[in-house]
Amino acid sequence: MVLADLHIHSRFAMACSDSINMRSLAQTAIKKGIGILGTGDILHRQWIKEAEEELEEVRKGMYRLKGGAPSPLFIPSAEVSTVFYDGGKARKIHNCILLPDIESAKSLSSTLSKYGEMDSDGRPTVNMSAAEFVEVLFQTEPNAFVFPAHIWTPYFGALGSISGYDSIKEAYKDQSKRIHAIETGLSSDPPMNWLIKEMDSMALVSNSDMHSLMNKGREANNLNIDKEKAEYRDIVSSIKGRKAEGLASTIEFYPEEGKYHYDGHRDCNFSVDPLTEHIQNCRVCGKPLVRGVLHRVADLSERTIGYMPESAKPYIHLIPLIELISHSMHKGKYTKAVGETYDLLVKGLSTEFNVLIDASFDQISEIAGEEIAEAVKMMREGKVSITPGYAGVFGKIEIADAPPEPHKHKQLGLDEF
Ligand SMILES: [Zn+2]
Ligand SMILES: [Zn+2]
Ligand SMILES: [Zn+2]
Repeated sequence: MVLADLHIHSRFAMACSDSINMRSLAQTAIKKGIGILGTGDILHRQWIKEAEEELEEVRKGMYRLKGGAPSPLFIPSAEVSTVFYDGGKARKIHNCILLPDIESAKSLSSTLSKYGEMDSDGRPTVNMSAAEFVEVLFQTEPNAFVFPAHIWTPYFGALGSISGYDSIKEAYKDQSKRIHAIETGLSSDPPMNWLIKEMDSMALVSNSDMHSLMNKGREANNLNIDKEKAEYRDIVSSIKGRKAEGLASTIEFYPEEGKYHYDGHRDCNFSVDPLTEHIQNCRVCGKPLVRGVLHRVADLSERTIGYMPESAKPYIHLIPLIELISHSMHKGKYTKAVGETYDLLVKGLSTEFNVLIDASFDQISEIAGEEIAEAVKMMREGKVSITPGYAGVFGKIEIADAPPEPHKHKQLGLDEF
């Protein structure tokens, strides 16, 4: 089994940390326990150059750091924002791609430069529809792989409430035949996506979409592949389609922790559970609410909560270790004390995922104290309650003594709204 995080960003993407380079990406991947990492931003010329200088190809489409330093396998990846007008609406849709080698990234970058500026933002914006983009992508690189990024987010998701569509078929038109996976994004998890019939033929993938190193792997794919033998095409086939036999399970954020789970208005700190209350406007100022992911899933679903398709894969919800430590120590996650405890744990117990998933209470307690061990235990038992995120505000976690009340008890369905 190998954990893969296939959607990340470099320091060349907007609002991303300056400290993201190939070396620091490799180091944090090792710390986290990520074995396969998308390069992110591989259409940006400077990042391509850095990849060529720092990485060597070990097998077809799989790269690692040069010079024998500890390294995950890198696979060329990028996110492309398509901006266009369709159906009387301005559309902005983010698409993730994987490419079989750096050469093909270069030629795609030059092809796409006819449609937009490729070097100003690591996540380039092209003036073409999502369908046109996919068509051009496959004309340029027949072995590419594409999936809609964070498919439900209001502004940039293919099914998002503000600039998205009501189905993948509508979003990608005749090119939807080439969509075999979707990224659930932080604000939704597999059970929410199981409620949508169209998703039955898709692999549900999960990635961090990190803009800073610390966030790497906050969501990831657990692939059942041999890391010593796998080539690009094995990674692609592992996350392709309904069967996606190589996708053993996914690691998920609690969807409530994501920043578009509920409906809300950020300026007024106002949010609402769309399953219990259906209102369009902010109760404080009267402006329209940003309709979140939960509401959107409810709008498009024709199934009852709890429905599980045959193709369903196992998943686990995790809370990033740094947040558990910060919560237990009552100190901010960027403080020195929290950072030091994180490093001690990861050093002593090999990887962050080992601490979160496998390490024993005693092992954690010995290094970091009982309170942090208790927080990890509670998380594993699902004893967390979360104030859901909305309109760009992340949810807030509480570690609770009693299991939280399940709040998604209502049937989701078109009739309801
Ligand atoms: Zn995006
Ligand atoms: Zn992204
Ligand atoms: Zn308001």
